[in-house]
Amino acid sequence: MLFKASVLTAVLIVYLCIPAITAAQGQDIKTKYSRVIYTDIDDLKEFNSSLRIGPLDYLLKHRAKGDDTLSGRVAEKVDIILERVETILEMYPRNFSVDIKIIHNSKEVDKIYRERYSKKVDFISFYFPLERVIYISSEDSSSNILAHELAHAVIDQYYGGITPVKVQEILAQYVDEHLMD
Ligand SMILES: [Zn+2]
Repeated sequence: MLFKASVLTAVLIVYLCIPAITAAQGQDIKTKYSRVIYTDIDDLKEFNSSLRIGPLDYLLKHRAKGDDTLSGRVAEKVDIILERVETILEMYPRNFSVDIKIIHNSKEVDKIYRERYSKKVDFISFYFPLERVIYISSEDSSSNILAHELAHAVIDQYYGGITPVKVQEILAQYVDEHLMD
């Protein structure tokens, strides 16, 4: 009896959760190597204008396949930055995938971090290996911050999660420093 009741409760919880999860997931943009997820178009606009790729700009023109929409531009820049990160690290993980979730501000990023790690922090972005997700505050984003988090994702998926945190951090900072070289 207890078992059945538990199953029923579990089923009900799942059903009740589906609409909430769908609503929270928002819109997504598929890029060559990732998926950019946002709930507020203004956050996406802010994220797009923060992604300046400077000397890598020629790649943008070269590869712009006439998709001059907001989502087209975001997708292209994210892919250019990711390719640059892989080149700097000389790591090309097979079947690489990452979701980049655009969060409104750092306060919300901290809240998400706290839910996952039960730890209070003051972050503007982080990579969560278990879900292969980057959470990034649109208010604080930049190409370098995205590159730093993408570096965590590339390193994690290249070595399969055995890289010590300190080593990862040093490599991610190295990517950040050499992004526009
Ligand atoms: Zn880091």
